[in-house]
Amino acid sequence: MTQTVSADLIALRAVMRGPVFGPNDAGYNDARAVWNGDIDRRPAVIAQCLSAEDVAAALAFARNHALEVSVRGGGHAYSGTAVGDGGMMVHLGVMNSVVVDTQTRRARVGGGATMADMDTATQVHGLAVPGGVISDTGVGGLTLGGGFGWLSRMHGLSIDNLVSAQVVLADGRIVRASESEHPDLFWALRGGGGNFGVVTEFEFRLHPIGPEVHLGLFFWGLQDGAAALRLCREFIPALPHGTGALVIVGLSAPPAPFVPEQYHLVPGHALIVAGFGAAEDHARTVAPIREAVTPLFEFVTPIPYVGLQSMLDASAPWGIHGYEKALDLDDFSDEVIAILTEQAGNKASPMTFMPIFTLGDAFCEVDTDDTAFGGARTPHYVCNINAEAPDADLLAVDRAWARTTWEALRPFSSNQGGYVNFMVDPDQDRVRASYGSAKYAKLAGIKAEYDPDNVFHRNANIKPA
Ligand code: FAD
Repeated sequence: MTQTVSADLIALRAVMRGPVFGPNDAGYNDARAVWNGDIDRRPAVIAQCLSAEDVAAALAFARNHALEVSVRGGGHAYSGTAVGDGGMMVHLGVMNSVVVDTQTRRARVGGGATMADMDTATQVHGLAVPGGVISDTGVGGLTLGGGFGWLSRMHGLSIDNLVSAQVVLADGRIVRASESEHPDLFWALRGGGGNFGVVTEFEFRLHPIGPEVHLGLFFWGLQDGAAALRLCREFIPALPHGTGALVIVGLSAPPAPFVPEQYHLVPGHALIVAGFGAAEDHARTVAPIREAVTPLFEFVTPIPYVGLQSMLDASAPWGIHGYEKALDLDDFSDEVIAILTEQAGNKASPMTFMPIFTLGDAFCEVDTDDTAFGGARTPHYVCNINAEAPDADLLAVDRAWARTTWEALRPFSSNQGGYVNFMVDPDQDRVRASYGSAKYAKLAGIKAEYDPDNVFHRNANIKPA
């Protein structure tokens, strides 16, 4: 850090309500830490903001000192773009309040809230916003890229439920974006990632959910992989309206109480079905699964919605070393099944696995051009080839495995760019491919208006036109 930046931190502290950390300050190391333990970067300044005005002050300081800006929502991206070396980290972690209005069925959610913050506050009223499947993921980054999880087949993406957002622009202006205010910015925020400004508050539409919902988890050994994935190919497109489904390929069975001891850490494949209606309906929905291919074990149970939202947390603990590469698949074709089942047996780390998100139903009721989301609004699978290991050496092995698997699947992919939120390696070709040329060009035009100097470039970057 230069002497000037060091000395001027006093000036920044004087105009910010939240704390400001330099490298020698207590709290600096906690504040710079992100979910991915493989990322170890040291910003020159961390501005832990408490308000939109704090964010504007931090951005002005970065501009005046020519510091690269990174924005930290939940700090949960594999890419670690939330933290950079030698720059200004705009830290939103404390801006995590969630205010629920039960009359209007709206929630106002701070830009640094996690899924757990949002679910806990909304479930008090039996309400929910569609979001991700791991509870410590940030609502900020998740929403700006699209946001999908258990509720997406019932109520669409997180962005499909966004009503408005408060945004601090690169030049420090604080604006609200909605269908009627800065509608171009509002369109771009819904899928265009963190390219357009710092979102300090999201306003979401809420839906009645739970508090009790239904889980159906079925697990097969590697030897039954092809039969299990052929079953998924038939079963998932025929799911009743609103049923959530997630396929996990190459999962090592967790040492959890519901897993018979002889299967602890045994690698295999899982199909998890989430039901949001009556117990009898859920039982009827999942019955054909066990009849088609006998699982090694199953776990069918009522579960609180917040329990469903955190049941996979242990599969991706904070501090684990992670890498991912993703692509969209239209179908579990025989060729795709052959690659997935072969590669599942080739991973090195027990923590590595491939969650395959199933998008369809309500997700397809929004027109492709209505939001900036990258990818078609047709039923498809988002295949996340997810390497995770307790240390960097083992991760290096599975990072190579993830790349090999991705290359093998690539010829069968309907969108090789894939979901921008699952993009670790900065690659302009993949960002363009994810959006398609027309949508990318529109986003680049909006970027030129709101962030002409590309201040917000630590992301799946859209270059200003
Ligand atoms: P951060 O690491 O804090 O930030 C990443 C980037 O997002 C930043 O560089 C910035 O560009 C931008 N950003 C974040 N917050 C803001 C803000 N308030 N304003 C402006 N820009 C911001 N995605 C899904 O859709 N569904 C899932 O189920 C899902 N599961 C996941 C599970 C794991 C284990 C992990 C690691 C990721 C998962 N993701 C999922 C991907 C997730 O959506 C992205 O990693 C997302 O970026 C996380 O948001 P964050 O705020 O925690 O990110």
